[in-house]
Amino acid sequence: MREDLVRAEILATLAPEPLNRSQVAARLGLGVATVSEHTRRLIELGYLRELAPQVAGPGRPRVPLEVVPDAAYTLGLRVHHTHLVGVLMRTNGSEVSRFTLPFDPHTDPVGQLTKACLEVLADPGTGDRVRGIGLAVPGVIDPAKGVVRMSPHLGWSDLPLRPLLADRLPVPVLIDNDTRASTTAELLFGTGRDHDDFLVLAVGGGVGMGIVLGRRLHRGPDGVAGEFGHVPVDPSGPPCVCGRRGCLETYAADYALAERAHERGLTPAVVPVADLHRLASADAPGIRTLMAEAGATLGRAAAGVVNVLAVRALTVIGESHVLWPYFEPGFRPAVEGGVLSGLEITVRQWDDSAHARGAASLVLATTLASR
Ligand SMILES: [Zn+2]
Repeated sequence: MREDLVRAEILATLAPEPLNRSQVAARLGLGVATVSEHTRRLIELGYLRELAPQVAGPGRPRVPLEVVPDAAYTLGLRVHHTHLVGVLMRTNGSEVSRFTLPFDPHTDPVGQLTKACLEVLADPGTGDRVRGIGLAVPGVIDPAKGVVRMSPHLGWSDLPLRPLLADRLPVPVLIDNDTRASTTAELLFGTGRDHDDFLVLAVGGGVGMGIVLGRRLHRGPDGVAGEFGHVPVDPSGPPCVCGRRGCLETYAADYALAERAHERGLTPAVVPVADLHRLASADAPGIRTLMAEAGATLGRAAAGVVNVLAVRALTVIGESHVLWPYFEPGFRPAVEGGVLSGLEITVRQWDDSAHARGAASLVLATTLASR
């Protein structure tokens, strides 16, 4: 999969307000000639337009550029083991529409995904503007081959999802790990506005990490970088879905917290995460301590990555954001006590469509922007 993030970054930079080429170049740390070359192509493609020149002092008048938001749309789908969330996104990152559909990963998943996509493409007035479809999938994903290597949550292994969908859909299809999809959205529309190097920590049904270095998403050789949940913590710890023991995920993922709470006799059974949240809110005995310990374990591991990569910003995302107030008392001191220099920590408000927006951003950053 070839990415041309530069064009997507130019669109994202211009999304909030029109800017001239010099201003875009300064924001992105690029030369004006490079920006001009890309904006010329984006104007040809209809994604940008020039506004009336502005005369400010001596020299040539500056021409502000504006995004044409409805020039093209991208569809992002979050694949969850109980449902699909779809977001149809404009070139400026704003949403045209969103939807949620039930999903069963065990019964003809390709057929269900194809049907959901074809319905969006058939929508009069919007469907014909869709230039590409991105899928955010939990687990170990090889985006170059489009294969789901291992997704314990979906029960899939070595599923060639992109080739199967590409045969059935009339527009380009991309798949990637859900955390990396959301990290692309952060790069274009979030943390990347202020930082060239940052980490995205995703905590929910698993624990993942998105790594951005020099404004590029680090994927690793087979696209499997960022498996933060499988950082070894304790070789005699609980068994992990990866087949090893004592991985970080077995302390901090939502299902693992529920198991630890039951083991400690804090709950009569392994309860859903919503129940853990309710118990923590009510300050039920031991629950907040358990979560602060999980936060500290996460924080120590995160501090290690921060030190190795020398990043200055970390953004927390994921379904466990409701539990974050209880992770935080352990997480923050562990990170701050472990990092060698200052770190800006941001906790994002999370909703179910975030990975879908990430997948749509990924399409913007690849198919759309590099055409
Ligand atoms: Zn593991």
